[in-house]
Amino acid sequence: MSFFLRIRQRLDRFMIGRYGTDSLNRGLMILWSILLVIGFFTRSFWWYVPQLFLCGVIFFRMFSRNLVRRQRENLWYYQLMKKIGTVYRRALVRFRDRKTANFFRCPKCRADIRMPKRVGSFKIRCPRCGAEFNKEFR
Ligand SMILES: [Zn+2]
Repeated sequence: MSFFLRIRQRLDRFMIGRYGTDSLNRGLMILWSILLVIGFFTRSFWWYVPQLFLCGVIFFRMFSRNLVRRQRENLWYYQLMKKIGTVYRRALVRFRDRKTANFFRCPKCRADIRMPKRVGSFKIRCPRCGAEFNKEFR
């Protein structure tokens, strides 16, 4: 049996019942590589502290046997990334249509409302909750 195959089998045996990696760990690794690249330019000792911490978290999660806890963290990460994606897409649309549309929120249900850009005072009916309110655009 080759040397590398033996190492591979030993590693596989070691990882039985352990969590391994997931998208949160991949995200942390991307963050770590960003810190690493910035670190090439800063050359500060203190810059290694968060990197070491991140590295510790990544390996801790990888070798952890508490699968439920790790999956819950991963779910939290999924929801966070989804929220960030929504905010990002919304900002893109607002920027793209900034000259043709007014954007605002319903004061009652916080729904995003957009209407063609016009100047003046308008009575607006929220398409989601039906609340009526006045809005003035200058
Ligand atoms: Zn509403």
